[in-house]
Amino acid sequence: MLLREVEYAKPSSVAEALTVLAGNDGARALAGGQTLINVMKARAASPDVLVDLNGLDELRGIELAPDGTLSIGPMTTYTDLVNSAEARARPILGEVCNQIADVQVRNRGTIGGNACSNDPTNHLPPLLVAIGAEMTIAGAGGERVVPATDFFLGVYLTAVGPGELLTRITIPPGKGDGFAAVTLGVDGTCIANAAASVDGSVRVVLGCVDATPVLVQPPSAEDDAVRDAVRGAGLLPPGDVHASSEYRSHLAEVLAIRATRAAAERAGA
Ligand SMILES: Cc1cc2nc3c(=O)[nH]c(=O)nc-3n(C[C@H](O)[C@H](O)[C@H](O)COP(=O)(O)OP(=O)(O)OC[C@H]3O[C@@H](n4cnc5c(N)ncnc54)[C@H](O)[C@@H]3O)c2cc1C
Repeated sequence: MLLREVEYAKPSSVAEALTVLAGNDGARALAGGQTLINVMKARAASPDVLVDLNGLDELRGIELAPDGTLSIGPMTTYTDLVNSAEARARPILGEVCNQIADVQVRNRGTIGGNACSNDPTNHLPPLLVAIGAEMTIAGAGGERVVPATDFFLGVYLTAVGPGELLTRITIPPGKGDGFAAVTLGVDGTCIANAAASVDGSVRVVLGCVDATPVLVQPPSAEDDAVRDAVRGAGLLPPGDVHASSEYRSHLAEVLAIRATRAAAERAGA
């Protein structure tokens, strides 16, 4: 299906992008376009103005601070993350980005677009919550920093409000991380996924089982503790043609244990 007619703006600074977004209720940021253009083609979204962020170098790139903190521009693509020497400071990032879809999607899709679309089947929302990412949001009122735990608000809904942009993702140092997923085919969408981080405490985050990533914090990385924590979360996942609600609940337990075992092994726990 062809796109409906839409205005196009290519700002040359973040400030200009924010002005265009604030000045038009129907304006939407365009990152890699791998979700947005598809939903526009399907008429599920119909913005009046596309504000193309692709010319904004200030929103792209990966910086590694001496203490191991990563500062990532939202327009950084999955391929950039996979190939980045700096991003290897938190190896799980590149590893998970390398599992997303196919090479075309990885070359265009961005970490910011993945987070801001908050499709419950996406790979990155649970991972960003598990590894303690912080999201910087800019708007007319200035900047604010929102922990990833509070960033994902609902299906396709995040803390980025109208007229605002996600401008930075900050990731603390760490290496004890794991990720596990069951997907539709090799490159396919997740039916269920889980990310885990072990660093003194244990954080396990389940994807595809609710509108937003579900964080559970078992008292230890032992299989039984993780299983009990997932059961205690009272999940009621959606059922669809790919998996019944009961099967998704079962996958959540299995994947949480796999992700936590991988994280604990890396953490040396
Ligand atoms: C065939 C196919 C298979 C896929 N499979 C997977 C998969 O298995 N796992 C997975 O995780 N993803 C998958 N995706 C989705 C893909 O990862 C998208 O790239 C991603 O969801 C959106 O990123 P984007 O850069 O393309 O953003 P866009 O599509 O350009 O934007 C998505 C949304 O985020 C908003 N946005 C983007 N950047 C910002 C910003 N900086 N500030 C505020 N709002 C912003 C846009 O306005 C829009 O609403 C798949 C896509 C395709 C086409």
